[in-house]
Amino acid sequence: NALDPHGSERTFEFHYGKHHATYVTNANNLIKDTPFAEKSLEGIIRATAGDASKAGLFNNAAQIWNHSFFWNSMAPNGGGQPGGDLGKRIDADFGSFDKFCEAFQQAAVTQFGSGWAWLIEDDGKLAVCQTANAGTPLAQGQKALLTVDVWEHAYYLDYQNRRPDFVKAFLDNLANWEFAETNLSA
Ligand code: FE
Repeated sequence: NALDPHGSERTFEFHYGKHHATYVTNANNLIKDTPFAEKSLEGIIRATAGDASKAGLFNNAAQIWNHSFFWNSMAPNGGGQPGGDLGKRIDADFGSFDKFCEAFQQAAVTQFGSGWAWLIEDDGKLAVCQTANAGTPLAQGQKALLTVDVWEHAYYLDYQNRRPDFVKAFLDNLANWEFAETNLSA
């Protein structure tokens, strides 16, 4: 309940305890007695991305990775404007922190159906992007810095249809800039 009221205990019971857990169960079942059982999670995602015959495994593996990344993208008393190198890079590449927020909010709100909005580093530049369903920057050679899950299961219990309010709460109160800064310098 540490992120209450921006994300409630009940949301986490379902989102972490059931949705994320189901991806783990499914992926484990799919790799059982296959060469994928020896690979890392990242290795499985890279090896199955774009392979239609492995879509089931890619979807479940990428959703495990995306969700772990999302949990780390939030912290109690998070949100607001980051300082340090990350703050400078946001100013340089977006023009200002407000411009970054606008772009991130826009990406999150306009992702049609299920998916994710991301802050990434691509070709040495910070950028915002969106991915559908289990799509992940990891599969596209981009460095993920921060993400928000915009599948309905991420916000429906607390915000119902109001996805923009959830994304605003994420930016104002949850975004874990320490995690993003660590990813940037990794
Ligand atoms: Fe989710």
